[in-house]
Amino acid sequence: MLYINGEWLEAEGNQTFKVTNPANGEFIAQVANGQKGDVAKAIDAANHAFKEWKALTAYQRAQYLYRAYELMIEKKEHLARTMTEEQGKPLRAARNEVQYGADFLLWYAEEAKRIYGEIIPAPRKEQRFLVLYQPVGVVGAITPWNYPISMITRKVAPALAAGCTVVVKPAEQTPLCAIEVFKIFDKAGIPAGVVNLIPSKDPVPIGEELINNPNVKKITFTGSTEVGKILAQGAAKHMKRVSMELGGHAPFIVCEDADPVHAAKGASLVKFLNSGQACISPNRIFVHKKHVEAFTNALVERVKKMKVGNGMKDGTNIGPLIDHKALEKMQAQVDDALSKGALVAAGGGRVTENGLDKGFFFAPTVLTHVNTEMRIYREETFGPIAPIIPFETEEEVLEMANDTHYGLAAYVYSNQLSTSMRMFEQLNFGIIGINDINPTAAAVPFGGMKESGWGREGGKEGIFEYLEAKAGGFSI
Ligand code: ADP
Repeated sequence: MLYINGEWLEAEGNQTFKVTNPANGEFIAQVANGQKGDVAKAIDAANHAFKEWKALTAYQRAQYLYRAYELMIEKKEHLARTMTEEQGKPLRAARNEVQYGADFLLWYAEEAKRIYGEIIPAPRKEQRFLVLYQPVGVVGAITPWNYPISMITRKVAPALAAGCTVVVKPAEQTPLCAIEVFKIFDKAGIPAGVVNLIPSKDPVPIGEELINNPNVKKITFTGSTEVGKILAQGAAKHMKRVSMELGGHAPFIVCEDADPVHAAKGASLVKFLNSGQACISPNRIFVHKKHVEAFTNALVERVKKMKVGNGMKDGTNIGPLIDHKALEKMQAQVDDALSKGALVAAGGGRVTENGLDKGFFFAPTVLTHVNTEMRIYREETFGPIAPIIPFETEEEVLEMANDTHYGLAAYVYSNQLSTSMRMFEQLNFGIIGINDINPTAAAVPFGGMKESGWGREGGKEGIFEYLEAKAGGFSI
């Protein structure tokens, strides 16, 4: 169903589309297939609701977000199961994501009350300057399938806290997660029109309406750099505000002064999270040549113990990829690397045994002898492949790590504070984990440099993406 102006509705012409389980290809549900006219209706509703929503006090808006937070925590298990069934990630990871998603509701309930203005000393004696922050207006939010709940709250929570109203278009692979989140918004009593949901099989007309409708004042997007560029170009025609969380190509650097076994543990945990389907997933693992053997052995040992299977099953570490196209991309990157001299130390292909043939399972893979000529060295993988690249000097690895169009996340393992600090300062990425594989939280700004996007989500920064600064000069 669509959620427009506080009501659950069918799509225009009662059109629907099918949602299937990536672990076994089974049918899960038929979902309303939103059309251009439906989005226009949702934008209208959001535009009407904006007037009253922005006029509420920050304390009042915060109350709705607190309530939504509580409901999301109450519903954690249900949401996690919906996610595992629809998206594939292991149940434990799904529960973590629901918590992460809920954290944004709580954080921005609090931040709503901290949209402080400023009084600035004026050059003239009889002049006063004030800065007031006001909501930008109706927001169009387009979200991805890999984190189908938290990517919604990471946008909706700060937008609502700022006083904006929102129309969300979730990924076509994961509309059910979005619907569950909106049931929570509905139950939390968020006034009609403040949040609206348009699932749709074809994102193009929906995106076009969000971009071209003059009542939408801001586009916020998480997804591929390719689509981000299309949306940014469209938004530029109308000078619309945009936030873009796009692809990444994270380096994972094991320095000469690191413990290679400890680093391998970190790499095994962060690389294979969500089967590697994360924009902050390590894409190139640079290991100092003196540690290559110890690191590779420790990583391979861990990878060989990983259980591939349906995320609903206890003990599963690696769920399916989202679709067949993703499987093909993995195989193409592996084949290309092998043809140019890489070696497979673990995995290397699709998994079909033990009843997994109907799902999109790819074995957790470790490649060694990877070099700069291979596709995997440049292309975002978005899957469970760990390519190991040896290096000799700090200068060399910094140059290689920064040699990418992307600039989202980077990871460094080092036991020296001075090395860590140099790396932190010189890596051109927006999020850096130093001996840390989870450098994200609702309280911290998340976002990329270069082609990884514009703007930041989370933290105190995230709310300013939905605010305009208004300067006032007063003569007294
Ligand atoms: P991925 O390749 O990881 O699926 P996409 O960037 O294609 O990433 O998808 C992220 C989100 O962008 C999804 O909600 C998808 O429906 C949407 N999307 C894809 N293409 C377009 C487009 N041309 N206009 C608007 N939204 C789009």
